[in-house]
Amino acid sequence: MKLVPVVEMLKKAEKGGYGIGSFSARNTYLIETVLRAAENTKSPVIVQISANEFRWFSVTPKEFADRFYAVADRYDVEAVLHLDHTKDFATIQDAIAAGFTSVMIDASQREFEENIRITKEVVDFAHAKGVAVEAELGKIGATDKIEVDTDESLYTDPAEAEEFVRRTGVDTLAVSIGTAHGVYPVKNPQIDLKRLEEIRSRVSIPLVLHGGSGLPAETVKKAIAAAGGGVSKINIATDLELAFLGSLNCERKSNAEIWNMDPAALEKAAGEVQKVVEDKIRNFVCSAGRTE
Ligand SMILES: [Zn+2]
Repeated sequence: MKLVPVVEMLKKAEKGGYGIGSFSARNTYLIETVLRAAENTKSPVIVQISANEFRWFSVTPKEFADRFYAVADRYDVEAVLHLDHTKDFATIQDAIAAGFTSVMIDASQREFEENIRITKEVVDFAHAKGVAVEAELGKIGATDKIEVDTDESLYTDPAEAEEFVRRTGVDTLAVSIGTAHGVYPVKNPQIDLKRLEEIRSRVSIPLVLHGGSGLPAETVKKAIAAAGGGVSKINIATDLELAFLGSLNCERKSNAEIWNMDPAALEKAAGEVQKVVEDKIRNFVCSAGRTE
């Protein structure tokens, strides 16, 4: 495996007109599955997990990172290890110490000035360690509360985005343009392309689309192809877990419980997850064949 700086990976994708899937493994078992799918499709990939997922699945940043680095060299891939939605500095510090190469500070629930202050603090800390920072401006709603605690949605304001990026020095920005976390109750979620293009005209750093699960391929492609360069990091979480639990025919389990399940059943379930990841890579973000 080759660790690639996330901004380098995303800028290259933006230029090439494709996106990069940031896949939530949710447990340490599926880290390998995501890497295998990326290798099979010759695609760069981001492996991620969030602070809520650490809690829900009883796994620590160190356990997750250790597993990532333990299996990484079995795969010929370009990868980033990313910490998704996190609100507290301590978890971010733990993740950076454990080897995460990109971290998200989500202070989007705070007032604009508070969001800037908190984000800037994380940027200063992370940059000193050579780690990139993603922040969020606007609120991305949820149908799956495992990632975020709110179902509130508030679109990102383009002028605020410009000021936010300038004052925080953040590396990548999650924008709220109409997607939601989890799976969609509506058939055709719309994204606000005009808003995305307006944000892009004011902000040059890579943009991130959260809530990629359940979005139609055409919608994802449009967000990637937006004028001036659309989103280049697309977070996908729920779809992987749906395939995994569907195959195992069980409810959510902790990381340790998963590892104690029947190995043959796990392998079969991971195969289903791998199919989902490969499909997202080939047909949604279109990053297949982009590994050097
Ligand atoms: Zn998210």
